[in-house]
Amino acid sequence: MTDRDHVDEGYVDGGGRSGQSARGATLGSRPCRVTDGGSDAENVTAESGAVVEQLSADTAFELLSNETRLSALRALFDATDPLSFSDLNDAVGTGDSGQFNYHLDRLRGVFIRKTPDGYKLTAEGMDVVGSLLAGPYTKTVEADAIPVDADCPYCEGTLAGIFDDDHVRVACRNCDRDVISLAVPPGTFEHYPREEWPLVAEQWTRQEFETAHRGFCPVCHGPIESTVEIDPDGIYDVFEAGISYACQRCGEVQYANVGACLCWYPAVVAFYHDRGVDITDTPVWEFEWAVQPSAEIRSTDPLRVAVPIEHDGDRLTLVVDQHADVVEEHLE
Ligand SMILES: [Zn+2]
Ligand SMILES: [Zn+2]
Repeated sequence: MTDRDHVDEGYVDGGGRSGQSARGATLGSRPCRVTDGGSDAENVTAESGAVVEQLSADTAFELLSNETRLSALRALFDATDPLSFSDLNDAVGTGDSGQFNYHLDRLRGVFIRKTPDGYKLTAEGMDVVGSLLAGPYTKTVEADAIPVDADCPYCEGTLAGIFDDDHVRVACRNCDRDVISLAVPPGTFEHYPREEWPLVAEQWTRQEFETAHRGFCPVCHGPIESTVEIDPDGIYDVFEAGISYACQRCGEVQYANVGACLCWYPAVVAFYHDRGVDITDTPVWEFEWAVQPSAEIRSTDPLRVAVPIEHDGDRLTLVVDQHADVVEEHLE
């Protein structure tokens, strides 16, 4: 199981106070902690359908720690078509074809591929350059608090987007409780006006949690175990029950309150759609059931937690089990 003393944490709608749920500003889903993911793969053969390590993490980082090789990856990323050796060499501007050939050879098979039409990036190469553009390693956000047009779910205060390097909180200016608290790659905000940054962070948070809810770690893509738990260590603060999404490979854990995990559940999307509301395009703090402690523990063995969702006098109640699966739906 997850060792909470050794994980970075992210959470949504946890009602947590600033700095409570992680070690200072490092809370959130990044930086990624690289682990040795190859041990399991060694126990199965390729013939049986295995994912095997083709190079070590050390080698991958070493390959990328070279200006010429990074320039070649960036040139291939910017190109719309595969590039010939000479075009790629011209784009990088080394002027030494022998040296350049050496660098391309090192990248081949992992980050670039040679095709009859020329050199192109592999999916891994795209991923690397995309990560550099997103800026988790190279960029930072510098911004004062940005007002959010919403009231705090927990007191009479109002919300604001608070940015600290790559860590974003949408939190109450008065009681300092968080509605959202997560690491967001700084480059994510670059193409949006500053006043929209809290909404950008909200959308980013949703996709991170939906990824986890679907079973993939947002950090390392490893398998996620979803567990509904009755607040074991005060992590969920004002909420009686919460959900932990724990990666079985890297140990990353994200926390949400039970209601928040239902934002993408089909019956909830349809309930609002039938009433003229696009829940996918409405900030999560607009929905009381997602940010207030309205869930009710109906039983502990088996665990059943009910979340009432109300809109214009109609009520949809969903009951989830210990794995965050919906096991009952009631529309009144
Ligand atoms: Zn407040
Ligand atoms: Zn992971």
